[in-house]
Amino acid sequence: MSLSKILRLPSTLALRLALWYAVIFTISSFGAFLVFNLLITSGLRERTDKELLTEVSELSSHLVFGGLAAVELDIIHDAESSGVDRMFLRLLSPDGEALVSSNMSSWKNIAINRTALNSLNTGASHVFETLTLPQRQYKVRILYGIIGPGKILQMGKSLEDDERFIEASREKFVILMAALTVFGGLIGWFMARRALLGVEEVTQTAEDISKGAIERRVPLRARGAEIDRLATAFNNMLERIHALICGMREITDNIAHDLRSPITRIRGVAEMTLTSGKSVGEYENMAANTIEECDRLLEMIETMLAISELEAGAGSLAMGEVDMAGVVEDACELFQPLAEDKGLTIVTEVPTSSRVYGDIQKLQRLVANLLDNAIKYTPHEGNVTVSIDGDEAQVLLLVKDTGVGISGDDLANVFERFYRCDPSRSGAGVGLGLSLVMAIVRSHGGEVAVTSSPGKGSTFTVSLPRNPLS
Ligand code: ADP
Repeated sequence: MSLSKILRLPSTLALRLALWYAVIFTISSFGAFLVFNLLITSGLRERTDKELLTEVSELSSHLVFGGLAAVELDIIHDAESSGVDRMFLRLLSPDGEALVSSNMSSWKNIAINRTALNSLNTGASHVFETLTLPQRQYKVRILYGIIGPGKILQMGKSLEDDERFIEASREKFVILMAALTVFGGLIGWFMARRALLGVEEVTQTAEDISKGAIERRVPLRARGAEIDRLATAFNNMLERIHALICGMREITDNIAHDLRSPITRIRGVAEMTLTSGKSVGEYENMAANTIEECDRLLEMIETMLAISELEAGAGSLAMGEVDMAGVVEDACELFQPLAEDKGLTIVTEVPTSSRVYGDIQKLQRLVANLLDNAIKYTPHEGNVTVSIDGDEAQVLLLVKDTGVGISGDDLANVFERFYRCDPSRSGAGVGLGLSLVMAIVRSHGGEVAVTSSPGKGSTFTVSLPRNPLS
């Protein structure tokens, strides 16, 4: 995305982030300035105090070696060289009487601090004070120091240079800060925009999809791990939803198709009987036909409801201890006449008992569906073998037949709703039997698999945990 586009896009979150960034930046810069200002002020004060103390020690040694006359000359000379309106020096007696002083014309109202004198008289070597004088714009730093016996030096220095320096640096800092805050805000906004571009793309994609472009996906770019992960997760979610929608669409189409055929047949028979039927026998035929078709429809609807209920959760199961060996034997006995009619042999290889924790009715239905299919898709003189195996943790139920088998392409789909392999389409059944098997097995925490060789037979293997709750 081009820079101009990034800059043009309005984004409340980006703006808020940028403002936060600018505010935090300004506050921390202001804090840094306060610390900097404090350090500068105390550094300058320290330097001034050092200068004043040096002057005291110099005058003190001049007093020793040159006497009062030398000190007087120094006082006048030092004040003039610094500027008489910037500095004054005054020699005082211990009780505050002025002995010698520099040009005091600019310092007329300067008082003598009696407390400072008392401190010096009681042992202090020097005393500092800072005065704000009404007639002067800048503060004055005063030092009282003893330079010899009975000689106190009062010395004042205008803090004009220091204060001007601090003021100037403050002004520069404010200008610099204002510029940096604006710049920082812009940078923050730009960075936030860049970081949120991925989110913008996800939003845009979601909006496009809600307008109907269900094929749209978020373009994947290297934008930073979090956004990339969001985009990938979003795309995966869309793929999943898309697959679900397609699956549902297919199921709806299948339902519509499977409902239409029997209803069309019922209508056709009814119409024919109405237009050409004359005898009671023909009407009885129509009624029987209708009942048969209705039963088929009801069975289909009932199976679909059972699958949905099982897929919705295990709450619909009436769990209890079930002997799978007994279930298999009962089912084989039930299907024996059907098998005999087709000339098939059912072989059961089950232990005396094999217990699982499950819903007996659902498990009976599972075995019946597999057995029904095995008989249905095995031609005359074939064999169907139902066996139970397993260990302490799980039961393995195997339903093996020597029937028509399932081709490789169909194997992957046989458990899908309404899926029927081509050769079976004309025969009885709606393609829900194995979907129900799958739903029952899954609701019991198990797995079902199929292996098959076309023309040779198929084996369905169901593994059920003995206790799905453990
Ligand atoms: P149907 O009502 O068609 O039997 P199912 O869901 O039970 O529906 O099975 C789906 C399809 O799988 C069947 O139409 C059939 O083609 C195939 N099938 C299922 N069991 C067997 C089997 N034992 N041998 C061969 N094909 C089978």
